Amino acid sequence: MSNSKFKKSKIENAGTNEYNSRRSFLKKAGTAAIAMGGKNFFTLSANEIFSKEELQEKTPWYRNITRWGQINITEMDPGQYDISWWRKFWKETETQGVVINAGGIVAYYPTRIPLHRPAKYLGGRDLFGELCSAAHEDGLVVFARMDSNRAHEEFYIAHPDWFAIDINGKPYKAGELFVSCVNSPYYHEHIPAILKEIWQLYKPEGFTDNSWSGLDRKSICYCENCKKSFRDKTGQNIPIKKNWDDKVYKQWIRWNYDRRLEIWDLFNKTTKTLGGADCTWSGMNGGSLVEQSSRFRNYKEIARRADIIMLDDQSRSNEAGFQHNAQMGQLIHGLLGWEKLIPESMSLYNHSDAYFRLASKPVNESRMWMINGIAGGISPWWHMIAAYHEDRRMYHTAQPIFKWYKDNSEYLLNRKPVANIGLVWSQENIEFYGRDNAEELVELPWRGMCQALLRARIPYIPVHADHIDRDAGQFSVLVLPNLAIMTDDQMAAIRRFVDRGGSLIVTGDTSLFDEEGDPRSDYGLSDLFGAHLVTQPLKRVVPSEKLAHDVFHTYLRLTPELRAQMIGPHTGKKPKVTGTRHPILKGFEETDILPYGGLLEPLRLDAGAEVPMTFIPQFPTYPPETAYMREPKTDIPGVIIRSTIKGGRIVFIPADIDKQFGRLNHPDHGNLLANIVKWTAKEDLPLTVEGAGLVDCHLYQKSENLIMHIVNLTSAATWRLPLDELIAIGPLKVKVKLPTSVSGRNLRSLVSNQNIAVKVENGFAQFEIKSIIDHEVIVIA
Ligand SMILES: [Zn+2]
Repeated sequence: MSNSKFKKSKIENAGTNEYNSRRSFLKKAGTAAIAMGGKNFFTLSANEIFSKEELQEKTPWYRNITRWGQINITEMDPGQYDISWWRKFWKETETQGVVINAGGIVAYYPTRIPLHRPAKYLGGRDLFGELCSAAHEDGLVVFARMDSNRAHEEFYIAHPDWFAIDINGKPYKAGELFVSCVNSPYYHEHIPAILKEIWQLYKPEGFTDNSWSGLDRKSICYCENCKKSFRDKTGQNIPIKKNWDDKVYKQWIRWNYDRRLEIWDLFNKTTKTLGGADCTWSGMNGGSLVEQSSRFRNYKEIARRADIIMLDDQSRSNEAGFQHNAQMGQLIHGLLGWEKLIPESMSLYNHSDAYFRLASKPVNESRMWMINGIAGGISPWWHMIAAYHEDRRMYHTAQPIFKWYKDNSEYLLNRKPVANIGLVWSQENIEFYGRDNAEELVELPWRGMCQALLRARIPYIPVHADHIDRDAGQFSVLVLPNLAIMTDDQMAAIRRFVDRGGSLIVTGDTSLFDEEGDPRSDYGLSDLFGAHLVTQPLKRVVPSEKLAHDVFHTYLRLTPELRAQMIGPHTGKKPKVTGTRHPILKGFEETDILPYGGLLEPLRLDAGAEVPMTFIPQFPTYPPETAYMREPKTDIPGVIIRSTIKGGRIVFIPADIDKQFGRLNHPDHGNLLANIVKWTAKEDLPLTVEGAGLVDCHLYQKSENLIMHIVNLTSAATWRLPLDELIAIGPLKVKVKLPTSVSGRNLRSLVSNQNIAVKVENGFAQFEIKSIIDHEVIVIA
């Protein structure tokens, strides 16, 4: 452990990795016991034992190690793993921590645990042990990687009762392997025994697990362990099939979530009992909330327990883009706290769309995913499959980013995001409203709203619906994108926010369902919206698959219409506005309609509600001769606007414009949403960025510095990966609102190191960035 490289990294991180805190504590204990003349050491407070500097040094290793790496070892690798070559790679890339395959499906060390099968070509080699020693000698920390949700046939034959079975008793399989049951001794005996063996032999700093949460929601296990546990907890039999309207099925869902938290606690208790409080176990979690839900992983509760989140979200999708990485970083930090770390496994091989496990991903595709994650507070973790590659290009991807990250870490970690717009979400909404269509019903509205904000360069922060009271102080506007399920407590928190003068933007079915996913008789927040359901008796149910998927040929009418002044470019005249349109319709003077795509029902409105857009019902698209409006005008509201007595503004958008923008990417929808956000925020935003291009802007504060990230998303591959060529944009004109603690007179560019002149005026720092190739980070002091 006494390694100069390691000592150096302590200084870089302005804290010490108290790597061997147990040993140092015990050493202290001996000295203190003598010094205190026999006074019981364990009754002394930490302040009596440690100096101030030593107390600062007690930050556990998982709060200090910020640059990670992983070779995901294949069963072929024991014969081809050149450890000395990889030690040089660790050094070149400034890697501080490694994730090393240890056990689970197969073992990479000589194990004595029955049925813990050695990797196919291990051949007696102690590969994990060799790698663990090498890492420790080089001053790196080790996360022993487990993969504990399936096993080979001989294990199933020995313990059929440890494996998940369907209603006919047939075992669930993943390829050739059998899926273990989370309620069986496989989880509470077999895996803890492996954790113990690995710790006793190798003393890794912590444990992580690739696939720890067992069967996903698609499959119901009917093994005796499950039957008994479910009956003990609920008094019910396991439901015979999926039925979202069945109370017992919902109980089964919640029981499953609870079990995954029990496993999290059990494995942590196991490793911390063995290795002390810092010997953490952190199962890997994903970057898709829909997927987390389908795997019964309650992100809020996991983050509350976790010392560190090991994020397994290796690459972008076409739909969500690189920017998704910053969104998820901020969302998870919102649950975990900003002082804790979120390393993310970032694939250097082709991961999205088509897997080419052994071929290098185009370097700029990997690079931009890393950069955009870092902009959201994520720490980099290079990830390759196999220890030997014929495609060596991936070896050059991580080094420049890791070096830059190391040099600038003081500005990239443990900072607070600056934004006055909060986007509210909850996992219950994904689970019990989204059900089997969560991608369309929950994810798309969320993504559309995020994308509209990004496009308008408006910073925002994700907020869990249970954290509204905790976090709302920093926001002037809360946005609820189709947050259909809201608990009474969450709605009460929203009312308190509005009572303090806060403003709201609310879309779709928000507050229409209770926490069980049952429809309410009216919007739970109808008093704030100024709108009520009129469909009686109540027919509102969770939208069907068809309703969730289809794009309907519908429009929204902008009121008042300006059709009387219909003019063309040939007249050389500008449109003459006779009526006064609401400011949210700015920029649409040349149209009286906008494309929509969804369906709307009539609503009853309270006095004082303003309706700047109404619904035009669907009509045929084919043949073109039939494409005329059958009902050009209705009084069905698309947008409803109210002001509160405390000076807040409430915009209720029954039309799911956010969802439509999320899937159609129509600029009208994006512009309308941006207008609505700006108007609701009374144009008071901490950041404006002008100039061509699609950019993702994030603002943070850390003591007397503001830190601004601009990620350039403009490319030929913006919505179609992989990215090959980077295309520079600029100049960009930036205006940043200065908190009182930031003078704004000193600017530093952390990426291009370009000289930037700044002007401070009326509490804003104004400057111009000449050019951005991939990203820029500006520190404003
Ligand atoms: Zn089971």
